[in-house]
Amino acid sequence: MNLPPIPRPTADFAQPAGSGSAEQCSAKPCLRPAEGGDAGSAAAAASGSRHTPPWDGPAAEKIAIIGAGYAGLSAAVELSAAGRQVDVFEASRVPGGRARATQIEGFTVDNGQHILIGAYTETLRLMRVVGADPDQLLKRTPLRFEFPGEFAMSAPRLPAPLHTAFALLLAQGLGWREKWAAIRLMRGLQADKFQIEPDTTVTKWLDANKAPSRQRRLLWEPICIAALNTPADRASARVLANVLRDSLGGSRSASDMLLPQVDLSALFPEPAAEFIARHGGTVRLGRRASSLRREGDAWWIDDAGPFAQVVLAVAPYHLGHLVPEMAPQVAHFEWEPIVTSYFSYPDWVRLAQPMLGVDAGLAQWLFDRGRLCGQYGLIAAVISARGRHLDLPAAELERGIHQEIARLVPDLPAPLSVQTITEKRATFACVPNLQRPTARTGLPGLWLAGDYVAGDYPATLEGAVRSGVAAARLVLAA
Ligand SMILES: Cc1cc2nc3c(=O)[nH]c(=O)nc-3n(C[C@H](O)[C@H](O)[C@H](O)COP(=O)(O)OP(=O)(O)OC[C@H]3O[C@@H](n4cnc5c(N)ncnc54)[C@H](O)[C@@H]3O)c2cc1C
Repeated sequence: MNLPPIPRPTADFAQPAGSGSAEQCSAKPCLRPAEGGDAGSAAAAASGSRHTPPWDGPAAEKIAIIGAGYAGLSAAVELSAAGRQVDVFEASRVPGGRARATQIEGFTVDNGQHILIGAYTETLRLMRVVGADPDQLLKRTPLRFEFPGEFAMSAPRLPAPLHTAFALLLAQGLGWREKWAAIRLMRGLQADKFQIEPDTTVTKWLDANKAPSRQRRLLWEPICIAALNTPADRASARVLANVLRDSLGGSRSASDMLLPQVDLSALFPEPAAEFIARHGGTVRLGRRASSLRREGDAWWIDDAGPFAQVVLAVAPYHLGHLVPEMAPQVAHFEWEPIVTSYFSYPDWVRLAQPMLGVDAGLAQWLFDRGRLCGQYGLIAAVISARGRHLDLPAAELERGIHQEIARLVPDLPAPLSVQTITEKRATFACVPNLQRPTARTGLPGLWLAGDYVAGDYPATLEGAVRSGVAAARLVLAA
């Protein structure tokens, strides 16, 4: 499958040189707009079933969405489904924002390997709304954590809460004392209804609960970094408890891991753009909003308008460009990076599982993209949050990770190519008591959406989607 090249995205996107070749993702072809094109109209032409509601009453008032990441597109889909006409502005020519497809040396990957979990109920709901079938596009497996030779835990197919209790009881690599301590900690959280008051760091919370060190290293700290992209000694215990409530503390299916089998633009953003087009809206890719101003009782984006209401769904560090008076609301945010290195090996190279942990390594998680989406021989290594890896030259980091993969794959040959993508501001640092702005800006008809907007979740796809849905509901209620 040959896909047209995708332009290199944002300033935060750094790719040390490398060369590579691998099979394309075997999943469905991606809709790619023409240069400077409009995914909305392209999608409408492709779908052949354009549905344009009669624009009477409130529908005559156009709504603008700035940003076609998961938050902006969720708001746009929710509004389109409610019969409102939306106009989405996206600076990049690829939809998806921080969760988007990119190309390295001729094959399609993501700007960072993502995982979803069964608790992402709004993401899964909206995927279904736009016709993206989660059962086909995501590989669902029971929760499984494995650090080969050290630790393995998988949730059996038992009803909640037995799945969590048995996962911990049957975990390999923890002694009985540690297993019991882990169960006690989960039971304590349940008894407190997953409320941690006052908020503190995850490390202090584990200290207070006398969590044994091996259990921390192999269980809670990896969960914390994976979920909050913030090291345990800085991360908010309260937000971690929210994630545990909805995953390990939820139904068995809520704790399932959902691994994308298509690229992140094809997973939701592209079907969402098609849905919006079928409902009479537009998604303008490659169209950066340079200015946002109020004239009379309407909003204008550069020379486009009038818009009755606007959902501003850009990343927090772009907020001040459009609404300078809002910049102070996020000025205290700090950022955490995520590094993803793609190693291309001969196609017989496999990991024992689609996803494996690396204990005390440079890499934290390894993903076998052959098992996930038919890109055989391609291994993605993920390092979340800040750490010593950031001080290493790319070649040294890649050499070190290759040696870690070699410990898991007998007779591993040298990689054919390696490419490393560093997202320097992948997410906000999810620290205790972080003040996050709400969706209400206080300006008439202007709402915020994005993973950083006040909510239960850390910076995740589900946090972004929920904020988009919430902003859309405020628009509808206004
Ligand atoms: C490498 C990496 C790995 C991650 N892993 C996971 C994971 O495993 N699981 C998980 O749940 N989450 C993960 N995340 C987090 C998740 O990707 C984000 O939380 C989510 O994508 C944020 O979506 P958003 O819509 O809020 O913001 P963004 O995705 O940042 O979207 C904002 C959009 O606004 C656009 N924009 C900005 N300014 C303008 C302008 N002036 N005019 C027009 N458009 C503009 C941008 O181009 C962008 O498309 C990861 C993130 C990264 C970077």
